Amino acid sequence: MFTPIRRSTTKVTIGNVSIGGGSPVAVQSMTNTDTANAAATAAQVAELYLAGSELVRITVNSQEAAAAVPEVRQRLSDQGHRVPLIGDFHYNGHVLLTKYPRCAEALDKYRINPGNVGKGASHDKNFATMIEVAKDYQKPVRIGVNAGSLDQDLLNTLMERNAKLKEPESAQSVFLEAMVESALRSAYAAEELGLARKKIILSCKISRVQELAEVYRRLANRTDHALHLGLTEAGMGMKGIVSSTAGLALLLQQGIGDTIRVSLTPEPGSSRTQEVRVAQQILQSLEIRPFLPQVTACPGCGRTTSIVFQELSQQVEQFLHARMPEWRKTKPRAAELQVAVMGCVVNGPGESKAANLGISLPGTGEAPRAPVYVDGCHVTTLEGPLLAQDFLRMIEDYVTRMSD
Ligand code: SF4
Repeated sequence: MFTPIRRSTTKVTIGNVSIGGGSPVAVQSMTNTDTANAAATAAQVAELYLAGSELVRITVNSQEAAAAVPEVRQRLSDQGHRVPLIGDFHYNGHVLLTKYPRCAEALDKYRINPGNVGKGASHDKNFATMIEVAKDYQKPVRIGVNAGSLDQDLLNTLMERNAKLKEPESAQSVFLEAMVESALRSAYAAEELGLARKKIILSCKISRVQELAEVYRRLANRTDHALHLGLTEAGMGMKGIVSSTAGLALLLQQGIGDTIRVSLTPEPGSSRTQEVRVAQQILQSLEIRPFLPQVTACPGCGRTTSIVFQELSQQVEQFLHARMPEWRKTKPRAAELQVAVMGCVVNGPGESKAANLGISLPGTGEAPRAPVYVDGCHVTTLEGPLLAQDFLRMIEDYVTRMSD
């Protein structure tokens, strides 16, 4: 696995998960249920958790939502799910956290948006109230700045200061600076109020990839706080996945980001868990953390006009997905497995030898036989109608032989 230099030296513990300070980059997600509906929210948290989300954030936006949080926690505990729950607060977090102490207790972390805690003197008072609750319950917080709700007073101050410079920076640069300043000033204010640095995570989310890269580079250069990384409002489908991957990869490669969230807009009625799989795949593709065996498959071309190898690739993918939950308990190193399914003799044997297990299917005009390689050695040649079944059995046998 590739090990980038981690810039965040501060380790923050959230429930049973550690963030920063050399801990593995954690995957998190967020529900889109009405938190006041405790049953639906607990069910979606469980779904996200079972899909691999190590922390799950829920909206706490109303008295009804705050009142329901302990029940969400209880329902998850009853199912044996020890997933840390993060409360997402905007505008009224100071009220909800003090009026609903059982909510404050049940949550494992509070997200505070410094742009949404009030204006002027009430901003500082409300912020201080939330920090006091965090101290009382010994909970960490995320100071989560978002471009869409940036502290306008701070932005105006920095814009005015910039305008007086001999060589002013661009408005875009000042905007990004205001995001970084908002996060850092809030973090230092929280520390002055007595909240330890090891209880604080920072984020500065924005929806454009290059701006995300710039704002996080500035942030990482100026603090050792643990960082939550994500492209906000990434969008739907391929655009959301590609944009998130581009933005997160730029930063993760430099060791920036201690926990990630992929903010995809789900297709109507589709599962929320796609964002978890995408986050895992980003980390796995960068060789930062393994989650699932990887299949190397060629794209196919005119040398293999049949769809046999496409079908086999799909069968192998489905088999690995289906088996991994059990392997995670009995053979966790199976997540590092590399399997190759190749379409013809051009690159087939080479890629197959480079994988733990590889099969090189016959291209057009080749003999209908498929050599199989295990750890670089040709061990057998498969053919006939049971070829797929035989190859899947070889994968299972290989995992059985792997050390625990
Ligand atoms: S391995 Fe063969 S079938 Fe696959 S892309 Fe390369 S040349 Fe085409």
